[in-house]
Amino acid sequence: MKTSVYSGFYKLSVEDRLKEVVEFAGISEEDAKVIADPNALDLDKADHMVENVIGIYSLPMGVAINFLINGKDYVIPMVTEEPSVIAAASNAAKFARENGGIFTSNTGSIMIAQVQVINVADINYARNIVLENKEKIKEMCNAKDPILVQHGGGVEDVEARVIDTLAGKMLIVHLIVNTLDAMGANAVNTMAESIAPYIEQITGGKVFLRILSNLAAKRLVRARVVVKKETLGGEEVVNSIITAYAFAEADPFRAATHNKGIMNGISAAVMATGNDTRAIESGAHAYAAITGRYKPLTVWEKTKDGDLAGSIEIPMAVGLVGGATKIHPTAQVAVKMLGVKTAAELGEVFAALGLMQNLAAVKVLATEGVQRGHMSLHARNVATVAGAKGEVLEKVVKRMIDEKNVRVEYAQELMKEYSK
Ligand code: NAD
Repeated sequence: MKTSVYSGFYKLSVEDRLKEVVEFAGISEEDAKVIADPNALDLDKADHMVENVIGIYSLPMGVAINFLINGKDYVIPMVTEEPSVIAAASNAAKFARENGGIFTSNTGSIMIAQVQVINVADINYARNIVLENKEKIKEMCNAKDPILVQHGGGVEDVEARVIDTLAGKMLIVHLIVNTLDAMGANAVNTMAESIAPYIEQITGGKVFLRILSNLAAKRLVRARVVVKKETLGGEEVVNSIITAYAFAEADPFRAATHNKGIMNGISAAVMATGNDTRAIESGAHAYAAITGRYKPLTVWEKTKDGDLAGSIEIPMAVGLVGGATKIHPTAQVAVKMLGVKTAAELGEVFAALGLMQNLAAVKVLATEGVQRGHMSLHARNVATVAGAKGEVLEKVVKRMIDEKNVRVEYAQELMKEYSK
């Protein structure tokens, strides 16, 4: 059976790491070349993606290893500028696999589009009329996206709410759409726009906004894990993690940082696969506050055996077709590398990654603190910025860490000393 466990992966050269990933994921030599090519996204493609293009901005792409999800191994591509993130996720995933790995599920690829109706005199009466005409609304919307319907997707339900606002009462119609393997923003926006005249006609009101909701509360992914106390270093570590979690659960100032740690992993993988990081971030944070108070997206508990049980539930509007995934060559290979069959499976992998990213962060915070681990990577960055290379770089890094003095000026001073 193929496994994503690889001892000493970080010690390999960039080329050798890529070779290992190619072999693991079974992607072609051609695809490998795309990953290795920093200009895979050429100017012409870039110029068609966004406006006023003047160049291309590169970021490092790495892979998180050791992920065992529902009994299957994954190597997860991640694009991020932040050191420690990829190593931390890989490390936590190793803890998880010692006890069977991570288990996931999803609620389907259901997106919500909103149609805002204002100036309705008899608003509750109008709400009933909208709901009575559900089938007609479904039919009209589905006619706008025959391809989606052909694949088995389309509008599944219509909901209507009356809300109180600063500008008076409004009728908000929700189209509940199964967008299958698409993120679905364009798909549902088109539907919402197309249904507007009919909604005006049956309600007697005026339709204002017609746009998806990024609070994709019907497109949830879940992941759960039990990590043995022995793996973590004893029951005391389990208790420390739960105490750290309790802080986040009670205090939004801490919860924001707790959730940022989760998104360190998720956003990096969302970016690597060409998906919309802002859609995922806004959905995640809105969902974290859905009870009226901002909460952590993960929960950490102790099992009856004293082991650590973790779970996450998070909206995940990601796709395999459409958007930038359709254009960006590196993103396309990143998706292939994951070997996922559906957008929902992709979302589940991201949930598992977020859970492990959080475990890594909370464990470090609750035990040694983040600075020790960060320090060596930070020192390496600083020494590189100072211009140090090879043997001198290693010496400069060690001195700065030993003396807890990590500054570019000091690195330059040390370089002078060593080059004498
Ligand atoms: P899209 O319109 O490019 O592709 C989706 C379409 O692909 C579907 O409508 C369907 O017709 C077709 N399709 C073919 N095979 C399919 C399959 N197996 N499953 C599902 N659909 C299939 O893309 P999209 O996903 O509708 O929109 C995503 C883009 O919209 C992203 O780039 C996102 O950044 C952007 N966007 C986001 C927001 C927001 O988040 N608020 C708003 C507007 C646009």
